[in-house]
Amino acid sequence: MNRIALVTGGSRGIGRAIALGLAADGCRVVVNYATSEDAAAAVAEEIRSGGGDAIAIQADVSNEGAVSDLIGKIDAAMGPVEVLVNNAGVTRDGLLARMRSDDWDRVMEVNLRSVFLCTKAVMRGMLKNRWGRIISIGSVSGLAGNPGQANYAASKAAIIGFTKSVAKEVGGRGITANVVAPGFIESDMTASLGEAALEAAASAASVGRLGRPEDVAAAVGYLAGEQAGFITGQVIVVDGGLTI
Ligand code: NAP
Repeated sequence: MNRIALVTGGSRGIGRAIALGLAADGCRVVVNYATSEDAAAAVAEEIRSGGGDAIAIQADVSNEGAVSDLIGKIDAAMGPVEVLVNNAGVTRDGLLARMRSDDWDRVMEVNLRSVFLCTKAVMRGMLKNRWGRIISIGSVSGLAGNPGQANYAASKAAIIGFTKSVAKEVGGRGITANVVAPGFIESDMTASLGEAALEAAASAASVGRLGRPEDVAAAVGYLAGEQAGFITGQVIVVDGGLTI
């Protein structure tokens, strides 16, 4: 699959695994990052040293001007984005009674506004080419809720409504839009939860372990491919059976 793919937040964790997975599938990959310049460069270098094509580009994807610059740079370096993976995300957990409006706003900006901005920015090229894959990383928190994550769960739930609407708008033009909703995955984001919480999360999953970034990347790779052209507006849960 010789497609141009943009992975937002591709420097670490799940995004890194998605970038490597799409590259292994033959995509030319843009590894976006906010602050982790060295980590993003290392992902791009790993892809290139394996014979693939990748570049790392900094952009805060919650910022409209930065997204516009990012897409302009990709157009110049590679061409129009054909596979967009909206992966960048943050948590600012806290019980609602103590949640500051800053914590609400930042999570909404990075997790949700970025999805709107990036999807809109790549849409023109996808419509022109009559082909596109938009895959956004949600969360089981957005399906089931989670105490301490009212902001995060709201942002991830909103991505689902956004995705279903976009899927209906552009399905006739060869463009699909789907959500991959992970459970607990080993990454920097979950490392801060502490060992006891992670052990509880592992034993609550039917498969009895935490997820790996590669588990999520496999679902993204499938949805990005030619074979998934009849799957759109869906939420694929990758949680080892946590929520069944
Ligand atoms: P992570 O290890 O904390 O990595 C987050 C990534 O997002 C980093 O690459 C970071 O870039 C990037 N990022 C953050 N803010 C950004 C911004 N404003 N602009 C551009 N990039 C930004 O997180 P993760 O666990 O891999 O999570 C990836 C996605 O999966 C998120 O959407 C998250 O909500 C979702 N998810 C994770 C889990 C889990 O258990 N880990 C479960 C469900 C859903 P820098 O390196 O430059 O900071």
